[in-house]
Amino acid sequence: MLPFFPHPYPNELLYSTIARYHFRSKNPSYRDTAQELLGSPTASVIALLPSNTVFLHSQLHPNTLLTPDKLIFEHTLFPLYKPFIEKDRADSAIRYMKRSSVGDGRPLTGLLRYSLSAGRSFKYCPQCFASDTKTHGEAYWHRDHQHFGVLTCYKHNSLLVDTGFPLAPTQQERILYRLDKEYPRQTAPPNFTRKDMRHLEFIAKSVHWLMHNPAPDNAMEILHRRYEQLLVERKFATQSGLVAHRPISKAFDSYYGERILVAMSSSLPMATDKNWLVRLFRRREKVTDPIRHILAIRFLREDIPGIFSETKEQNLPIPRPPQGEDHLRQSPKDENALSCKFCPFTIPKIFRNKAGKVIGPDSAHLRMSEHVEKNHPEEYEKRRRFWEGSPEPL
Ligand SMILES: [Zn+2]
Ligand SMILES: [Zn+2]
Repeated sequence: MLPFFPHPYPNELLYSTIARYHFRSKNPSYRDTAQELLGSPTASVIALLPSNTVFLHSQLHPNTLLTPDKLIFEHTLFPLYKPFIEKDRADSAIRYMKRSSVGDGRPLTGLLRYSLSAGRSFKYCPQCFASDTKTHGEAYWHRDHQHFGVLTCYKHNSLLVDTGFPLAPTQQERILYRLDKEYPRQTAPPNFTRKDMRHLEFIAKSVHWLMHNPAPDNAMEILHRRYEQLLVERKFATQSGLVAHRPISKAFDSYYGERILVAMSSSLPMATDKNWLVRLFRRREKVTDPIRHILAIRFLREDIPGIFSETKEQNLPIPRPPQGEDHLRQSPKDENALSCKFCPFTIPKIFRNKAGKVIGPDSAHLRMSEHVEKNHPEEYEKRRRFWEGSPEPL
């Protein structure tokens, strides 16, 4: 049993706790810490998805509240990947993160290979740094800040500082980096516009949400069913599932703009076989980086709590657009109307009130939000928590 092990802070990467242990234990080398915590001097502490958590757990005080599952779900990036991979792959990744010696590591190395985070570096938020130092007496690496494509803090909406410390140090140079002081920015961020910042805010909040709200086991099925429906609604696909790749790529390009797509390593080549967006919708890849799913979901005007909430309506076949009727009233999916995701209720985006005054889309959005609050309180609460940032897990 270890003489001590620091308790992980809320939202702290397990890697970060291990780095704090290494520092406090005064172990002369990385090999000693790897032996004590992972059971082998050559085991590597993989920053985003570490392994050997069962061994680590076996070395903790018998009364510890930490379990291997708690370490994986609350202190690694695994929950961010889980909704976007098949259950088999998720199960073998969990097995690997529990004990790397069991089975083989392919599922996990697969995740890391497909991850855009490979080869990137540690980031932190200066405001979180200040508040953690005040609350806990020290700062630490937040897992919500580390994934590639997360450029702002979900809580403070400020640009994160990229320290340049590699998430995966080389074999020769095994170093456990701590956030022991404020490090300077290694690269100047692009000049993001206000519109860009809204995209970045959505990405950071989506990552945070996914990390703190366990996705259902059939998340992939729900997700692809919703993709199919939304593509038809947005007129990017036919009912038979044919995706119009040029129109969708152009629309995606102009929706995000070059700056965001370059920052997300997600520009779109027009050739279908290389176009990740088309491949994602056609389920051509085994794993697509979570950031790309988040970009696709926002582009289809959905959000994360919305896309994973199954409603009765979503299990029905997609309704055909009605012919020759008053389209504002009859077609719930019409571009001129807002439709409730959870029932057939719709509101025209622009309408005249009783006094004959034209009322714009802002007021329609407000009325829709009131409708959801009143008729679907659970869903309303989810959205509210998404935009305000959900509380830390207990
Ligand atoms: Zn922050
Ligand atoms: Zn409704």
